[in-house]
Amino acid sequence: MDAIGLYLHIPYCLHKCGYCDFNSHNINEAEMESYVRALLAEMEHYAPAAADRRVDTIFFGGGTPTTLPFTDLARILKACHQHFKVDPEAEITCEANPATIPQSDLKELREAGFNRLSIGVQSFDPAELERLERVHSVDEVYLTVERARTAGFDNLSLDLMFGLPGQTVERWQDNLKRALGLNPEHLSAYNLTIEPDTVFYKQQAQGHLVMPPDDFQRELFEITIDTLTSAGYEHYEISNYAKPAKQCRHNLNYWVNGEYLGLGAGASSTFNGERFKNINLPARYIAQINETQTAVESRETPDRRQRMGEAVMLGLRLRDGLRLATFEQQFGLSFHEAFGDPLARLAGMGLLEINSDRAVLTREGLFLADSVIVEFITEPEEVI
Ligand code: SF4
Repeated sequence: MDAIGLYLHIPYCLHKCGYCDFNSHNINEAEMESYVRALLAEMEHYAPAAADRRVDTIFFGGGTPTTLPFTDLARILKACHQHFKVDPEAEITCEANPATIPQSDLKELREAGFNRLSIGVQSFDPAELERLERVHSVDEVYLTVERARTAGFDNLSLDLMFGLPGQTVERWQDNLKRALGLNPEHLSAYNLTIEPDTVFYKQQAQGHLVMPPDDFQRELFEITIDTLTSAGYEHYEISNYAKPAKQCRHNLNYWVNGEYLGLGAGASSTFNGERFKNINLPARYIAQINETQTAVESRETPDRRQRMGEAVMLGLRLRDGLRLATFEQQFGLSFHEAFGDPLARLAGMGLLEINSDRAVLTREGLFLADSVIVEFITEPEEVI
């Protein structure tokens, strides 16, 4: 039975952070009740199509899932168990904002079956939190981690962000030190990027926000890799680090091009060979689900060329790289046959290397990953 991941999107936040381009909206209690009902109806709709699939990861993401009352999170998780064949050893993650979780709720979340918490820390510096427009304090981060441990969570991930306006090397090193001091099983460290249609984008255009230069961001990235790997974390994906056997299984499934079903506003799926994405706006999502039990806004069946480019795009994000034998098995031709030209070009530039059975980005290539990967998406190849 082929396994799938299950993703549930909770699109509400206490405040829209200035850099955020996720599908997140300010909390709206009346709408949130209808949203939970819609999510449950959508789940019921897809359950028969997934009847022969094992669910081995469940991820509640957002937005901020913990803006929902605990009872709703528990109710949704219970419905997952009712409608899908959830593996008894499934990894079940809930994203959480440190400002939103009382101790009692954390205990009950754990008892309801959540076994992994991903905490949006972003920074241990009060001024940086304020600059990012985060609604939580540094003290609340410490409190949340302590409460999570007390509640019995033995698998915690902390999200951090580097390359912030005005950030110094020392401040970033201090952030890393404080994160390590909390001994999380997993860390994600993302480079701040300015996305269109965000408050930060407008501020940058008006000259009110100045990003650090690329070479400085690269220095912080190198410091991150060196600090976290020296502390015993495996650097297993461009922005992700884990203690042994604590990689995020749900995200790993994305990166190896596995199938997943996404439910909720704006959620994407790759399921039964098809790719589809839901309507973003929660009110429209609810209305559409109430009418037809689905809220798909776009749908595509990727052709072989697209699937190859995506397999490379995702595989190269992993430090283990892209397994050449798997690629050949999946597409019936070798990686060299499919992508000979970009491969030679990138290898010549020292950005990518082929070791015995894998294609792997070099350290230089990791920092330039987005531009390296584009070569495999756009390169036309006659042979394909
Ligand atoms: S908490 Fe996360 S999802 Fe919500 S607005 Fe901030 S960055 Fe976006």
